[in-house]
Amino acid sequence: MSEANLYPVPEHFKKNAAIDLARYKAMYEQSVNSPDTFWAEQATSFLTWQQPWTQVTNSNLRKGEVAWFINGKLNVSVNCIDRHLPARANQTAIIWEGDDPAEDQFITYQELHDQVCRLTNALRERGVKKGDRVCIYMPMIPEASYAMLACARIGAIHSVVFGGFSPEALKDRIQDADCQVVITADEGLRGGKRVPLKKNTDIALNHCPKVHTCIVVKRTGGDVQWREGRDFWYEDLVAHQPSEAESAIVDSEDPLFILYTSGSTGKPKGVLHTTGGYLLQAAMTHKYVFDYQEGDIYWCTADVGWVTGHSYIVYGPLANGATTLMFEGVPTYPDASRCWQVIDKHGVNIFYTAPTAIRALMGAGNDYVTKTSRASLKVLGSVGEPINPEAWEWYYRVVGDSRCPIMDTWWQTETGAHMLTPLPGAIDLKPGSATVPFFGVQPVLLDADGKEVVGAGEGNLCIKAAWPGQIRTVFGDHQRCVDTYYSTYPGYYFTGDGARRDADGYYWITGRVDDVLNVSGHRMGTAEVESALVLHDKVAEAAVVGYPHDIKGQGIYAYVTLMAGEQPSDELKKELLALVVKEIGAIARPDIIQWAPGLPKTRSGKIMRRILRKIAANELDSLGDTSTLADPAVVNELIDNRANQ
Ligand code: ATP
Ligand code: MG
Repeated sequence: MSEANLYPVPEHFKKNAAIDLARYKAMYEQSVNSPDTFWAEQATSFLTWQQPWTQVTNSNLRKGEVAWFINGKLNVSVNCIDRHLPARANQTAIIWEGDDPAEDQFITYQELHDQVCRLTNALRERGVKKGDRVCIYMPMIPEASYAMLACARIGAIHSVVFGGFSPEALKDRIQDADCQVVITADEGLRGGKRVPLKKNTDIALNHCPKVHTCIVVKRTGGDVQWREGRDFWYEDLVAHQPSEAESAIVDSEDPLFILYTSGSTGKPKGVLHTTGGYLLQAAMTHKYVFDYQEGDIYWCTADVGWVTGHSYIVYGPLANGATTLMFEGVPTYPDASRCWQVIDKHGVNIFYTAPTAIRALMGAGNDYVTKTSRASLKVLGSVGEPINPEAWEWYYRVVGDSRCPIMDTWWQTETGAHMLTPLPGAIDLKPGSATVPFFGVQPVLLDADGKEVVGAGEGNLCIKAAWPGQIRTVFGDHQRCVDTYYSTYPGYYFTGDGARRDADGYYWITGRVDDVLNVSGHRMGTAEVESALVLHDKVAEAAVVGYPHDIKGQGIYAYVTLMAGEQPSDELKKELLALVVKEIGAIARPDIIQWAPGLPKTRSGKIMRRILRKIAANELDSLGDTSTLADPAVVNELIDNRANQ
């Protein structure tokens, strides 16, 4: 599928975007040839420093050591709030859209300041100081961002745990990060359903004796158990606090947060990010990748429990003084039209979501989209998984009315911010390709022997020079950090993903290296075969894995989810096989197609192929860590149907 359609940069973006092609090229060149000059200029223009750095970077990928803006001092909450007050005190910082379409809130920068300061004072009163770890287990309510920013103001390290996680997963993360304070809510609300956050926290805290303070936001007013001396209502703690709070002076390399990865490939890693480099790259990418302009209304649908929520709901947009929309609910509640209605309601200009949501909404049918206007949209974004070209085209044509360029952003919890991505005014688009490197990012493809692939080709995606938003360590286990990212190919950061580079220098993520198919000696990424299947009108989603095959070494096992209302049939199976043969070749023809009403996904919506691989291989006793699965019932259903093949 290399003969992809090309979507040129729209004329008005060429003229008006901050970065056109010539500027992208010039800036990229400077960013890799004179990185110190480049990053010093960017750090000065994007951030406010209390004390300048003495050295731009001191990094050594061979040793897994990364540091930026050495000895520089700044405070993230000052950069995201205080410095905007002279010009933007009354501008909306956060638009909060509730799960119930009738509920919303508009929080100005002044209000954000006051709220964050009150909580900062309350946390200090509870003994929280610089370097302490605070766990945030919250629904998508403004208090979640107040909590993150209050930690940043103190110099405490937050560890946000997605509100959909179980007590067990929460306990593991509290213990791993050694948190002594937890901030949560009585209950969350998602898709009309209540999520018992306080109850889950109570269960987790039974195994976390070091937690001395649990702060609870009253969201629903539902019943909760209470432990005197440990549990405090948020409202009670902040009510009497002054709306000013001193901000700690924080070193550029002091930690800002710990965040656990999605767990697609195994036990989640406590990725640690620091202050200066991370904030710079979050702010820069938010501005350039979405061509954010003064006054734009910006909406990222991620949860703050994921890195996308950290960098692109809270830190990037607020550092840029933007208006960021925070959505409590889910894209399918009250119905599959919700996102488009919210876009019309708030006049959203930039919309950033994940392929899993796009495929689900595509599966629900076009009427939900076309009955809304969406005229305010100018840029669309995608993140989290490879986006199948079919889903890309739908997003482009139906959602964006063929007017809005799509930024397919490839990055990881570990990279802190976008790494491979188009820029709307500079880069022509190819559906399914994350296109080109962001400033300062030097991607390489390494073959099995660790040699760099030159020109067009395929290999293991690695990065060959440090970048500011890079992971500093795995919390409490630096050896795991070195082993995971720096030891496979000494001198490089290893992403764990495979990629192909085409003749134009565009990158195509082929899937995770662990998931690569090897059929009769031919190596193939999962993404390509899946995208061929999704081309069929009746297919909403597909996941492909290898399984042991006597002759071919590995056979191809495809799990296929149909569009709403479509029925499986042998005829359809034949059509799908023929489609793959036509698109890729006979070598990629699946040996088995299993109809899958649902696919096992992480809580952030990524397909977990390692579990599908076990089911395909009939190794049902060793499914591995399933604690990050969104819906474990899906797995049983797939296992039961497998038996009927
Ligand atoms: P774990 O590391 O625990 O297995 P994870 O890799 O799913 O979990 P994240 O950091 O949330 O955790 O996800 C990063 C991964 O998501 C990337 O390595 C890549 O596989 C995938 N990904 C993200 N964005 C894109 C994209 N635009 N195109 C293709 N793949 C993407
Ligand atoms: Mg990963």
